[in-house]
Amino acid sequence: MKLNTELAARMRGAAGFIFDMDGTIALGDSKSGGHRALPHAIAVLEALKANGTPYVVFTNGTAKPPPAYANSLRNAGFPVEDSQMLTPSSSAAAWLSQTGTGKVRVLGNAGCAAPLIDAGLDVVGPSEEAEGVEAVYTGWFREFDFTALEAGCHSLWNGARLVTASNVPFFATETGRAIGASFPINVMLTAMTSKRPRILGKPSKVAFDTAMKVLGLPRSAAKDMVVVGDDPALEMRMANAVGAISIGLATGIMSSDASLPEKDRPTVLLNDLQPLLDVL
Ligand SMILES: [Mg+2]
Repeated sequence: MKLNTELAARMRGAAGFIFDMDGTIALGDSKSGGHRALPHAIAVLEALKANGTPYVVFTNGTAKPPPAYANSLRNAGFPVEDSQMLTPSSSAAAWLSQTGTGKVRVLGNAGCAAPLIDAGLDVVGPSEEAEGVEAVYTGWFREFDFTALEAGCHSLWNGARLVTASNVPFFATETGRAIGASFPINVMLTAMTSKRPRILGKPSKVAFDTAMKVLGLPRSAAKDMVVVGDDPALEMRMANAVGAISIGLATGIMSSDASLPEKDRPTVLLNDLQPLLDVL
């Protein structure tokens, strides 16, 4: 497959690139607990680095803090600095700080909470007794239990707003799709409190704006951005909402774009990254 001339030119002249991680440039390696690069992915990032085109990797996973993911990608051969790695907790930390939110209950593990703590937010543990919680933030949390459910509900009933890292049911792994932790937690919290989660990871504008800030690009450059991902409801939706080019990959969640609504349809769907590498 080859990209058409117009699209190829837009890719070459792109202001910057936002890559998804799982199912797009890499897959989790169950044996090592690290990552394995997908075909041509390392070469694509190397080409951007050589051209001086800024790029970030934005995963919707919050199991680890961004530097831990960056390290895992470097071990797999990728040119990714800690500062080029983002998770929803990066954009959540930015949003919670901007909105002047003080106390945040994190229904998530240590990796999920780390960026919020680093940003100076007053973070309360999942089951910790606390008054005056202003937001409940949900993320990767396989240890979720009834005590955490009760604590989260009490904070929400007492006026806290519900915010989340991600609200999609699945993500891609080496052995197929896996359940995203925050989705079922959000379902329970909404059922109990009638509060719906505000998403702060992909596909939110908060996530896109956070990436642009890290890339050092103005919001006006959105139309010259390229977003590469495997999940129509995450990367494609985020890119389409701001007028960026969306490159879909059939290496993860998405296998066909035929039945997708327009807002989730990629500008172009690729079987692998070879056509992108060819134009860079
Ligand atoms: Mg993905």
